[in-house]
Amino acid sequence: MRAQWIEALVMAVLLGAGLASPFGVGLWYAALATCFVGIAGSVLGLEAVAAWISERPKERLQGPRRKPRLAWRGARDTALASLVAACFLAWPISRMWAGEPTGLVWTLEEAGGLGAVVFGNVFAILVLDAWLYWKHRLLHTRAFFAFHRAHHVYRDPTSLSSFAVGPVESVLTFWPIVLVSFPWAPHYAPLYFVLVGAFVLLNLYLHSGVSSRLIEATLPRLFVNTSAFHNRHHANAEVNFGEALTLWDHLLGTHEGGRGERKRAPAVDASTEPAQS
Ligand SMILES: [Zn+2]
Ligand SMILES: [Zn+2]
Repeated sequence: MRAQWIEALVMAVLLGAGLASPFGVGLWYAALATCFVGIAGSVLGLEAVAAWISERPKERLQGPRRKPRLAWRGARDTALASLVAACFLAWPISRMWAGEPTGLVWTLEEAGGLGAVVFGNVFAILVLDAWLYWKHRLLHTRAFFAFHRAHHVYRDPTSLSSFAVGPVESVLTFWPIVLVSFPWAPHYAPLYFVLVGAFVLLNLYLHSGVSSRLIEATLPRLFVNTSAFHNRHHANAEVNFGEALTLWDHLLGTHEGGRGERKRAPAVDASTEPAQS
């Protein structure tokens, strides 16, 4: 089946799943609409501000821009990815609106205490980052690259391409949102929102096409991804697969200049030529 048909089918399943909501079909679709407006509005707004700021310095990481910025395409792809994220967020929100308990808690006691929150979140970040790394490696195989090609259209990215990924990749990236629905998976809300916000802001920076000396001197010490690191993945799709952290690239030698750089097989260079639109 062609990738476009699979992506359309994925969207149909995500949007149609609300018909099976036990909390009321109307409530679920109202939650979906609210979540979509909230996510797309805030992410596109932040992307626009970040793109405006990052276009001001003359020195871009890849030198003077030679290809179109593809700003509108980035905004369109971001809106579609936001719709996928909204489909997942609609479940905990509709559950909350129906008066049912969810996994979102506001006190440390409900979250199991300070130790559980700190340990649980460090563990969750490491596990989720490992998932994002291996998902990205999978998407660079011949069988799955069709679902990731859209993101590599932006060879010299701008912040408007931060979340410009197709529906299949969006599902693989945003599915953990649905875990908030379950009371057996407590999410300490103040920290959860900070981490989600930090992930969004980090992605805006990763795709800005420029770098800040201060940030580049700080984040790598914590194995957190940076614009200089991720930009190399857009320029050369054979290296730097980390999304939030760079830990796995360093452990497995898939960072630029690492021992695993030449060993890996998939020849996707031709597929990653920026398409003009
Ligand atoms: Zn990227
Ligand atoms: Zn990639």
